Amino acid sequence: MCEAIRTTYGVREGKNYVRRINVELAPMPVTDFRRLKDEKIGTYVCFQETYDPVLYKEYHPAGTPKADYDYRVTVFDRAMEAGISDVGLGVLFGLADYRFEILALMEHAHHLEAVFGCGPHTISFPRIEPADNAPLTKHIPHAVSDDDFKKIIAIIRIALPYTGIILSTRESEEMRTELFNYGVSQISAGSRTNPGAYSKADQDSGSQFSLGDHRSLEEVISTIIDKEYIPSFCTGCYRKGRVGNDFMDLAKPGLIKEFCMPNAVFTFKEYLLDFASPETKQKGLRLIEKLLSDVKKKSLKGKMTNALDEIDHGARDLYF
Ligand code: SF4
Repeated sequence: MCEAIRTTYGVREGKNYVRRINVELAPMPVTDFRRLKDEKIGTYVCFQETYDPVLYKEYHPAGTPKADYDYRVTVFDRAMEAGISDVGLGVLFGLADYRFEILALMEHAHHLEAVFGCGPHTISFPRIEPADNAPLTKHIPHAVSDDDFKKIIAIIRIALPYTGIILSTRESEEMRTELFNYGVSQISAGSRTNPGAYSKADQDSGSQFSLGDHRSLEEVISTIIDKEYIPSFCTGCYRKGRVGNDFMDLAKPGLIKEFCMPNAVFTFKEYLLDFASPETKQKGLRLIEKLLSDVKKKSLKGKMTNALDEIDHGARDLYF
């Protein structure tokens, strides 16, 4: 894994490169987390699957790889002890009563804040979807309706306003677009869920779960532009060392938006110039003009105008 991270960080495409690698890995001891930290990972993500200890045992019987509930539920304590400040929580909605899962997620966040002074950087919200060779997915034990799912996102957004809310491509295009309004801040695009699918012609067999949104990155970006949200590829905080407690100090009172907006616009412009189709580029640049004209603070507007000019002239990777 460490070698894969190093290799990925080393890839260059023109002036572009991968600026932050978040990893989702099985629970490990503190010593291994230290190795991951040395490789400069971004967020460490691990799904608890369900916080219900009784159901957890049913789904992961003794002798199976995930059988140890306690070892899994304490994984972020070990990650943080090793110095990894950004951690990502998540459950698989549908395994247990969603009301219990929401309370457990909040309690877990509260525990991390109490012990390490820093809550979760992100929380992911996957719902069970049909998957090959997984009979449980055909009869979901605690299925969550669309309305309840929207409620779940809204409640977590209110309870933990500082945390990033991640929605995967399991959800449909309509659902993902609507859920931006309730507080979703990060979505994936162009995902494949079967091992090796990014490099093989056969992209559909052996999927870990079925996707609800098959759009490419370009199509997702285009929809976000139409909604007048800012598609952002920002990694500014991580690069500036605004992680852990430092990040929370800015995120909790909402001061982080002073950085998010300009950084989002810079990375969005880089994407438009380097990767977008002419149509997306045109409407994206129009949105940037509008956003810039809405900036009230003169000094910020000046700094943003200068940075956007620099990007036009070939500069990349600018951030506050
Ligand atoms: S500045 Fe905002 S968008 Fe950029 S990394 Fe920090 S929190 Fe995320």
